[in-house]
Amino acid sequence: MIELIETSKSYKNFCRLIDFNKLSHAYLISSPDEDYNREFCKLIAMRLNCKEVCKHCENCVKILNDTHPDVLSFPKNKNFVVEDAKLIIEELNVIPMLSSLKIFIINNFNKATTQAQNKLLKSIEEPPKNVIFLINATTLESVLSTIQSRTQKIELLPFDENVLKKYLNSNGENINENALLEGEGWPGKTIKYNENQNFLKNCNFINDMLENMKSSKEIINYSAIFSQKDGFEERLNLLENAFDKILNNIISGVDSTYTKEGIAMIFEKINNAKKQFQSNCNLNLIADTLLLGILEVKYICK
Ligand SMILES: [Zn+2]
Repeated sequence: MIELIETSKSYKNFCRLIDFNKLSHAYLISSPDEDYNREFCKLIAMRLNCKEVCKHCENCVKILNDTHPDVLSFPKNKNFVVEDAKLIIEELNVIPMLSSLKIFIINNFNKATTQAQNKLLKSIEEPPKNVIFLINATTLESVLSTIQSRTQKIELLPFDENVLKKYLNSNGENINENALLEGEGWPGKTIKYNENQNFLKNCNFINDMLENMKSSKEIINYSAIFSQKDGFEERLNLLENAFDKILNNIISGVDSTYTKEGIAMIFEKINNAKKQFQSNCNLNLIADTLLLGILEVKYICK
């Protein structure tokens, strides 16, 4: 993901800060994509140690492998707790071994306990010279305002879906269209969808259903799978994606199975199904009604 992040505006802006010596001692980096946040911080740590980000020198390799003695990642376990804050305080005054900087990367800070955040406060406010904190969070909601006010905030932006698609495909990911849609431009999220077997199974199911469900007799079979509790909402979303795509194809004249009006009716039916799902209605009934409704619209459109 590093090469992709190197093309982002946020990274280029950060490079400018480094080059003009305008670095602050603590950054709070946020986006809903935890993998993107983590890799962004890693890349910054590399850039601070190797101007070219060559990916081959000792600094680059050690940072990439999480083994650099001066680039320390936290939390040590699942969430950032007081023990992590204590470790950081101990490490603060240890002189860097390989580089001139000591970098602390704290991932998923939104999951840090309040006590741990408070414990870290003083270190963030007045760290020793040559110490940089790269803190990241998927949301700022649970980050104490005292931490927020003592850090420079950087909000990462999603990538253009075409750029992301090109990058992931060139990386041998063979990206699924639905994973791309559901990932909404976030690289880590998109990769997770693309590697999630249940998600891919649901994608195939929806495609198969739209292609082969032709009579009310077949609805029973498809509905039996559609109405399973596990992944029900995901199937509704994928169905919506599928009809979004069909609508685009109608507009560009390559699909005439449905009409625009028909698609509007189907979107309404999917919306109703979502509402019924939220209010805990019977899943069999929701699925039967929805699939039958789609089939009816398909006939009207003929
Ligand atoms: Zn390097």
